[in-house]
Amino acid sequence: MIVLIRRLQNFRKEHRTEGPGNRQSLAIRHCDAGSCNGCEHELNLLSSPYHDIQRFGLSLVSSPRHADILLVSGSVTSGMREPLLAAHSAMPEPKKVIALGNCAIGEGLLGNSELTGLGVSQLLPVDAAIPGCPPTPEKIVSAILSLAKKS
Ligand code: SF4
Repeated sequence: MIVLIRRLQNFRKEHRTEGPGNRQSLAIRHCDAGSCNGCEHELNLLSSPYHDIQRFGLSLVSSPRHADILLVSGSVTSGMREPLLAAHSAMPEPKKVIALGNCAIGEGLLGNSELTGLGVSQLLPVDAAIPGCPPTPEKIVSAILSLAKKS
């Protein structure tokens, strides 16, 4: 338990926002475009008391119309291309796209093909990529915060 608390304190120190001037609020719409659910499992942990992404002003939203960031997992299978494009076009400007996991990057376990998907960048401009199979929650939070700082 003490080890967990220490890890939590260190993680929060590393990702501390510095004063109200640097605080940002970002809404994230997640889209599963053909994932095995491994990436979603890690993504779900972002709302846990340990990672608690709300303290950074980040929230997962259910509509792309409210979203600043489209977070895409999975290799973008043929059946998910149209829904993904529709979600992206429904987002207000300025909007960002993040590829979550190796599959979304186009380097998934199943390889690249028309059937299994070619990754998000074949369809949409990708602003950030989070490698890993699956990426850890820490990596996901860091990548989102880095993108927020750039924008
Ligand atoms: S990157 Fe790994 S965990 Fe994520 S969807 Fe692909 S196979 Fe599953």
